Amino acid sequence: MNLHHRSEEELDKLYKGCFFRNEYDGLVLNGELHICPISAHAKDLKIIPDYKSDYLKFREGSVSSKIEGYDVFNNQSHLQCCDHCEAVLNEIVERTYTCMHVKYSRINKLKAQLNSID
Ligand code: SF4
Repeated sequence: MNLHHRSEEELDKLYKGCFFRNEYDGLVLNGELHICPISAHAKDLKIIPDYKSDYLKFREGSVSSKIEGYDVFNNQSHLQCCDHCEAVLNEIVERTYTCMHVKYSRINKLKAQLNSID
């Protein structure tokens, strides 16, 4: 994943509109809490540098320092990994998610119809 050399504004905008930031609940991988699964797996596969500010390590520090760390971590305007990210990926994932959502709605409707048949 190459660096795009985006400006701070571009990175903030990308992160703010990102599917994973807005819809994903985070990921725990190897004792680390990641906001973004792309960042987590890219770091794990060593295809991006180890950006320490992009995740929290569970095994280090006291509970209070973890809570304080979480606030800083959670309020970042973007992740370092975002400069490696392909923006188009967000659109693809969002479309897939929408398709899945529509499918599940249809399945639930069908189930409801089946249940109403005596
Ligand atoms: S790395 Fe990409 S997918 Fe992850 S938070 Fe940043 S923009 Fe979103």
